[in-house]
Amino acid sequence: MLIVMKADATDGQVEAVVQVIEELGYKAHPMPGAARTAVGITGNSGAIDPSHFETLPGVAEAVRISKPYKLVTLDMRKEKTVVRVGDAAIGGDELAIIAGPCAVESRTQAFAVAEVVRRSGARFFRGGAFKPRTSPYAFQGLGEDGLKILAEIRDTFGLKIVTEALDEPSVDLVERYADMIQIGARSMQNFTLLRRVGKSSLPVLLKRGLSATLDEWLLAAEYIMAEGNYQVVLCERGIRTFSQHTRNTLDLAAIPAVRRISHLPVIVDPSHGTGKNYMVTPLARAGVAVGADGLIVEVHDSPGNALSDGAQALTLDQYERLVSEVRAIHEVIAPAPVG
Ligand code: PEP
Ligand code: MN
Repeated sequence: MLIVMKADATDGQVEAVVQVIEELGYKAHPMPGAARTAVGITGNSGAIDPSHFETLPGVAEAVRISKPYKLVTLDMRKEKTVVRVGDAAIGGDELAIIAGPCAVESRTQAFAVAEVVRRSGARFFRGGAFKPRTSPYAFQGLGEDGLKILAEIRDTFGLKIVTEALDEPSVDLVERYADMIQIGARSMQNFTLLRRVGKSSLPVLLKRGLSATLDEWLLAAEYIMAEGNYQVVLCERGIRTFSQHTRNTLDLAAIPAVRRISHLPVIVDPSHGTGKNYMVTPLARAGVAVGADGLIVEVHDSPGNALSDGAQALTLDQYERLVSEVRAIHEVIAPAPVG
């Protein structure tokens, strides 16, 4: 259930609704919007009697939600959520660009890429320190040493750090060194991990699972939000299909499909979405054209020597060209600024 407050409801009236929800033994999720505040209710196993709320001052209506998810929906919040990462943002007017190597391999490698990412005007640097590899014998990442390099990049270039956590202990470490926690495709249904990042004060980048439906993906976001962390960005990174000409099939229709249901920002990963260097730029262009709030792209100073995902890494030059192209596309499709 969701309690929609009147446009002129006071903070005290919202607080009184929250109190009733808590007295009933449920969790309240007040979400202020431009026109009105809605208060989501989670933690109930059966239907809630709307009469608990309908007569409270400031309440416009108590709405039963029939969808499997609540907090991610446009019923909760009519306008798009802007996820703030320090002084940078994802979901606002500016196209968010998150770029960097698949994995942090060395200080020299990470700094060489970061310098170009900074110069491109991107606000976010990516790089895995904990790598979820298909083979247990493949490079698994530098762990905490990799996070220390990332933290140095943040201090040197002012870039916000986005990096993956694989399990609960690595969330503790990522929280110490980074600005945004990535939950990888393989972890999208690790529900204890989702609950853990739901308690974090850092925003979360939630990648779509390798074979996750839209509903499963949104329910994964719901897990995080149900714990009280509303700073979630969705990332379409390709799904497993019968096609063999790409590593994954980038489901660009997921962008407008998410938009129709959810207020959360959604970005595109054309690197894992294709797995092939020559396809990354065209699919990045397409991702922006279809309305993504941003891109996450893999870049390497020497793709041929990369310890992971070299085949999809852009060279530094290719990356710089991509940024200027996608910015031009974003200008054309972005709504004209007001005023
Ligand atoms: C990555 O970003 O390097 C990564 C492992 O992504 P995904 O979880 O989408 O495979
Ligand atoms: Mn990768």
